[in-house]
Amino acid sequence: MRIVLASNNQGKLAELQTLFAPLGVQLVAQAQLGVGEAPEPHCTFVENALAKARFAAEHTGLPAIADDAGLCVHVFGGLPGVDTAYYATEFGYAKGDDNNVRALLEQLQGHSDRRAAMVSTLVAVRSPRDPEPLIAIGRVEGEITRERRGSGGFGFDPVMLLPALGQTFAELPAEVKNAHSHRGRAAQQMLQLLRERWL
Ligand code: IMP
Repeated sequence: MRIVLASNNQGKLAELQTLFAPLGVQLVAQAQLGVGEAPEPHCTFVENALAKARFAAEHTGLPAIADDAGLCVHVFGGLPGVDTAYYATEFGYAKGDDNNVRALLEQLQGHSDRRAAMVSTLVAVRSPRDPEPLIAIGRVEGEITRERRGSGGFGFDPVMLLPALGQTFAELPAEVKNAHSHRGRAAQQMLQLLRERWL
């Protein structure tokens, strides 16, 4: 079975390819099939993930899996949430991981409550009009550090500290990040659902 991965984010694609490897299906990145970015107009992760999965299925004729992820900061009432990828632009910086981290550290300056969760919502559809999308949600709680630590991963990994491990995601080997991460948790649930319902 071939499944299209509805993402053009390289860091996320690499993690999803590894996490779904045990399934024994062929996962193809949407860019390889000429599919561009889907609109993400919604205010919840699950709606945006569904929109991305439908878009990829519609443009490829294949079953599709999408991941909508983001950072939910406690003192910001759960924001930036679905707007995480564009966080830096709210403060006049260009869009990008490095500026996102810079903006976050600036906005949290002077805050002692640094709690934040990374959230990953995976949605799988067999076709654009699949009435039963498979949905898996993974979440991990951490603390935003005061400066960057580590060089692995992507996005907010250098400032996302896992208190239980005493390290940021960027300081952990990829397999350890995957074992503890929001995306790793969502992927384990999704693997189970796919085995039960699609294979
Ligand atoms: P999107 O779901 O590709 O739109 O990603 C939303 C935002 O969350 C982007 O800014 C990503 O860099 C960030 N992000 C997603 N997954 C992770 C992760 O595993 N670690 C750190 N940042 C992430």
